[in-house]
Amino acid sequence: MTMTSTTDTATQAGGAPADLELDAVVLGAGVAGLYQLHQLREQGLRVRAYDRAADVGGTWYWNRYPGSRFDSEGYIYQYLFSEKLYKDWSWSEKFPGQPEIERWLHYVADTLDLRRDIQFSTTITGAHFDEERNRWIITTDRGETVEAQFFVSCAGMLSAPMENIFDGQDSFRGPIFHTSRWPKEPVELAGKRVGVIGIGATGIQVIQTIAAEVGHLTVFARTPQYVLPMKNPKYSESDQDWYKSRFAELRDTIPHTFTGFEYDFEHAWADCTPQRRQEILEEIYQDGSLKLWLAGFGEMFFVEEISEAVSEFVRGKMRDRLKDPRLIDILVPTDYGFGTHRVPLETNYLEVYHRENVELVGVRDNPIARITPEGIELADGTVHELDVIIMATGFDAGTGALTRIDIRGRDGRSLTEDWGRDIRTTMGLMVYGYPNLLTTAVPLAPSAALCNMTTCLQQQTEWITDAIVALRAEGKSVIEPTEHGEEAWVAHHEETAAATLVPRTHSWYLGSNVPGKPRRLLSYIGGVGTYRRKCDEEAAAGYPAFQRS
Ligand SMILES: Cc1cc2nc3c(=O)[nH]c(=O)nc-3n(C[C@H](O)[C@H](O)[C@H](O)COP(=O)(O)OP(=O)(O)OC[C@H]3O[C@@H](n4cnc5c(N)ncnc54)[C@H](O)[C@@H]3O)c2cc1C
Repeated sequence: MTMTSTTDTATQAGGAPADLELDAVVLGAGVAGLYQLHQLREQGLRVRAYDRAADVGGTWYWNRYPGSRFDSEGYIYQYLFSEKLYKDWSWSEKFPGQPEIERWLHYVADTLDLRRDIQFSTTITGAHFDEERNRWIITTDRGETVEAQFFVSCAGMLSAPMENIFDGQDSFRGPIFHTSRWPKEPVELAGKRVGVIGIGATGIQVIQTIAAEVGHLTVFARTPQYVLPMKNPKYSESDQDWYKSRFAELRDTIPHTFTGFEYDFEHAWADCTPQRRQEILEEIYQDGSLKLWLAGFGEMFFVEEISEAVSEFVRGKMRDRLKDPRLIDILVPTDYGFGTHRVPLETNYLEVYHRENVELVGVRDNPIARITPEGIELADGTVHELDVIIMATGFDAGTGALTRIDIRGRDGRSLTEDWGRDIRTTMGLMVYGYPNLLTTAVPLAPSAALCNMTTCLQQQTEWITDAIVALRAEGKSVIEPTEHGEEAWVAHHEETAAATLVPRTHSWYLGSNVPGKPRRLLSYIGGVGTYRRKCDEEAAAGYPAFQRS
């Protein structure tokens, strides 16, 4: 059943006809967009998803760089809304790589028959709210205009790459690849002089994967990272049966843990003797997952001495493997606590720096000045000659996907300008002044790396669906945050963040990687389970933080 009639040529505010009229436009066809499309369609809405990519997958379409893989266990990253969808897919290993993840999302799209309502290779360039008719007027780079009552953003927390950030990039004689724009065609690296800029989670995966293949690898390292070794066993059929048999347990527990992973904080530092603390740290470290970060000692996020003790434990592990004082100086963090930045998993990554064909260049004190035709020039004038440059330089996280679109809300207000001054949302689900714009994976909701994202994205898209359904059931057509509702959430977010050590650091978690970006902890850090409860309470109370008309 379709709730509103669809016409191919509705009339826009200015009188010009729109090419298509819909109940909802979903921006993005990644983990969130696919499920959002499915849900709204199931509710009888006329809905279409748009994606710049040529196929489904979002993150897992774009990030096809060598070594790209999960840091979440595959079996907890899956959707939990359908037991059949869950069990009919089998992972080959604990932390699968990008090709397998992309295949899984193809399986999801095919099983749910989603492709017929997705328009690929299309960038949404503008979205203006027509206040007279309560419709979003959405424009694309193909020159189309689409009208919709609801504009639902599933545009991704980490989907706006930091690409053109160095002077002289155009002058380089060889190819430059951003990791999240890696081509589908094979890239020949064998025997080449390759430079990798960045040693975050992505840089680490690239470096450990290509080191043995390239002729010479130069790694440009600015911010040292605490790393944890990944244990990635292959799965036999009985392993697959084992995790599938846990479906009901996982479905009932994962959404309520602190980070949406299957594990939660089990130990209290204060209750343990110093010896017991070391034993626990060692045990969890041996798990070979993100557990030491997301389910070790929760107090390390709040108490400096505990943060320092856990950090020192991880530093010790890294120093033991690196041995060389110069490598240790560049690669082992000392000025922020373990877990206050995104923690990457790795496989023999630190050992890469002992290879003869690998050179580590610290750029903390001698930064990259420019890219020249020959390679990369540092501030002191040193030039590293290269054939290929790989930019593992990350994303304009949380806001970039939307601020790169001309989004206009009430009174023509611009989201790019609003978020350029201050990054605010109401529960990460809506923004004051932008009626019927519903959002996933934007700031002030739990997200990237402080959350197993499928857990969070399922919850956010389900909340959005319920909010739309409830609105329509009551014969109303517009939902938007009240000024007070938004203020209260921002204040709660800030208070929660300020109680932790995370806002004292500098990383993309706080927008520090983007020049001029207002400083704010992007992810809500009160816990995935707590956030869910607050969202549920908001809905059950009749959406008091929102105005509905
Ligand atoms: C390398 C990498 C590894 C990761 N590993 C993990 C992990 O192990 N565990 C975890 O929980 N999370 C991980 N993440 C986070 C990951 O982004 C999420 O898990 C999840 O895939 C995000 O899904 P999404 O649907 O919100 O957004 P995305 O997957 O980013 O999809 C958004 C889509 O919107 C499209 N889009 C954006 N703007 C426009 C526009 N203007 N017009 C048209 N289309 C547009 C994009 O093309 C993209 O396809 C990782 C991220 C990266 C980059």
